[in-house]
Amino acid sequence: MSDVSLETLVSLCKRRGFIYQGSEVYGGLAGTWDYGPLGVQLKRNVMNLWWQTFVENRVDMYGVDAAILMNKKVWEASGHATGFNDPMVECQQCNARLRQDHIKEDKCPVCGAVGKFSEPRQFNMMFKTNAGPTEDENSLTYLRPETAQGIFTNYKNIIDSFYPDVPFGIAQMGKAFRNEISPRDFVFRSREFEQMETEYFVQESEWEKAFEQWRTDIKKFLDDLGLPADKIHELEVPQNDRAHYSKRTIDFEFDYPHGRDELLGLAYRTDFDLMNIQKASGKSMEYKPKDPSAKPFVPHVIEPSFGVERLVMAVLTAAYTEDEIGGEKRSVLKLPKDLAPVKVAVSPLLKNKPELAAKAQEVYKTLKKEFGNVMYDDNGNIGKRYRRQDEIGTPHCVTIDFQSLEDDTITIRDRDTAEQARVATTSLIQNLEE
Ligand code: ATP
Repeated sequence: MSDVSLETLVSLCKRRGFIYQGSEVYGGLAGTWDYGPLGVQLKRNVMNLWWQTFVENRVDMYGVDAAILMNKKVWEASGHATGFNDPMVECQQCNARLRQDHIKEDKCPVCGAVGKFSEPRQFNMMFKTNAGPTEDENSLTYLRPETAQGIFTNYKNIIDSFYPDVPFGIAQMGKAFRNEISPRDFVFRSREFEQMETEYFVQESEWEKAFEQWRTDIKKFLDDLGLPADKIHELEVPQNDRAHYSKRTIDFEFDYPHGRDELLGLAYRTDFDLMNIQKASGKSMEYKPKDPSAKPFVPHVIEPSFGVERLVMAVLTAAYTEDEIGGEKRSVLKLPKDLAPVKVAVSPLLKNKPELAAKAQEVYKTLKKEFGNVMYDDNGNIGKRYRRQDEIGTPHCVTIDFQSLEDDTITIRDRDTAEQARVATTSLIQNLEE
């Protein structure tokens, strides 16, 4: 279990402008969340790090951004239209509808009744919609429940445009929608969320090697996000719990405030998807090796599948710390510096002194040009500002005081140690970069 309670995390996120309930002003819409100014920046920083790590910094990866709405044949071929079901039961005492596999010891998590469940019913989790003005079978389509299929449907395009050597991967990040029966645990189980997925195409004989390499790369990425190794657990999913096409799956789990739960999945999907597309579309999905004597083949696939919300929640959980500075209790987000939504906060020591404010504004504008995510903060007294910046994870606070006006120096305060150093304004950027 994590040290921070779910309640503390949710309340911090709302109070400080990270994450709000979706449509809150109308009483909310279950399973939807809105990211505020700090949340959207944190989420983007996580996504950018993923894109840099797995696309930009590699030579064997191609990025795509496919449409969310896809031809419904995609979901028929992938099995989602018929198979994307979770058995659902209803509690006959309180009428709560629940996923059968989430029920422990036959007890209703809502009212506590034991053994009062209806027979399980299948429930398709895809959101239906229509493309075009008529609402009939022909115009029926779905909001995508995963980003993976937008990758598979572009596999042939990438080969034709870029002639990659196998192994190579195609990566995509973006929204996915699932009509979850019981959204819960903050953003952990949402109805609208983001995924970051890769389909990595390999020769069948090479799948184990590629799988192990991805396992290592995933652990390195989680470490870069500041997630402690002792809070991450690899669960080898047994055969009877795996998707039918998967020959091996490892779920990476994390110790969330609500308990240990799935963070991301790594699966060997064999040639299941490409074979299905080949059958349903009538188009060959064979890869033709550059060596003319080698036989064409349909590649097998390793799929690392990350959920953005679950990563953001893990990052916040791992970063949240309560400590004592100078005898005063504080809560602080010890986020890795690259992930912090605000890089630097700039403050005049006192609010009502125009000469301090003028100098502080000047410093603020210079830093903003250099670092982008810089906040000007003159609300409340300086102690309160430091507490607030600690709580949103700002690595450095720069303060302009009376001495600054005399000798053109400012103080830089470090979030983690709360120690302050006085430096010349002219070397401020260099100091912050270091
Ligand atoms: P679960 O068993 O928790 O429902 P899953 O095994 O169905 O998840 P996948 O289909 O493997 O999930 O999706 C890949 C990743 O997408 C998950 O590891 C998770 O990070 C993310 N994800 C899936 N469903 C949700 C959701 N409802 N809300 C937020 N993230 C999700």
